[in-house]
Amino acid sequence: MDPHDRRSRAASRLLTVLIMALVAVAGYYGIRGYNPALPALVRPVRITPQQEIAIGLQAAPAMAQRYGGLSADPEARQRVDRVCHDLVEKTEARRSPYDFDCHVLADTRTVDAFALPGGQVFVTAGLVARLPSDAGLAGVLGHEIGHVLARHGTQRIAETRIAPGLTGAAVLAAYDPADAASRRKAAIATLIGRLIDLRFSPREEAEADRLGARLAAQAGYDPLGAAQAMRLLEGADGRGARGGGT
Ligand SMILES: [Zn+2]
Repeated sequence: MDPHDRRSRAASRLLTVLIMALVAVAGYYGIRGYNPALPALVRPVRITPQQEIAIGLQAAPAMAQRYGGLSADPEARQRVDRVCHDLVEKTEARRSPYDFDCHVLADTRTVDAFALPGGQVFVTAGLVARLPSDAGLAGVLGHEIGHVLARHGTQRIAETRIAPGLTGAAVLAAYDPADAASRRKAAIATLIGRLIDLRFSPREEAEADRLGARLAAQAGYDPLGAAQAMRLLEGADGRGARGGGT
């Protein structure tokens, strides 16, 4: 992508995030208790939140392994735990059916963050190191929590074709997390493999940006920090347009 395109795309995204952040602040402080988000976010997918949580927990070790395991850095872990807690307990996210847990991945070179259905959220040590302000970290974690609330990953795997005539929705409909045989099924393993390679569409990324800015503002973090974090994420890993975003 040529530099001019990148700058204009980054500029328009920054403007979008700023406007959304201002709307989030106005919405939160102006009309406390007003909560347009959750109802509209519940997409009609024939997968229960319990199945989402279970499949996300089952996929989490494979995701961690992909990025060098979990970080042993106590400072980074405490910081991510604290900001994650704020983003869940101080916002509309606490009324969702999901169990949010944010993890730091040991990988110091990759600059990225990920979300699995049900609430497992990951950020690489490489990205945490580039986010000196908690507001920026709140922007990134809020974005990933937004993907979970909007069920982007769940929607994707529900539509995934596992085998001829077999979709992810059908596999998960038969999925019983309490049954070891069900967890070990080959189709579930395939699904998990797809989950950790999942890339979201520009529309899903824009929705996660809006939700991320709103959650960061509701949790009391500077919404501008969220915007700066998005810009960092935009350029850092050469993904450019984030059509193949995370
Ligand atoms: Zn994303």
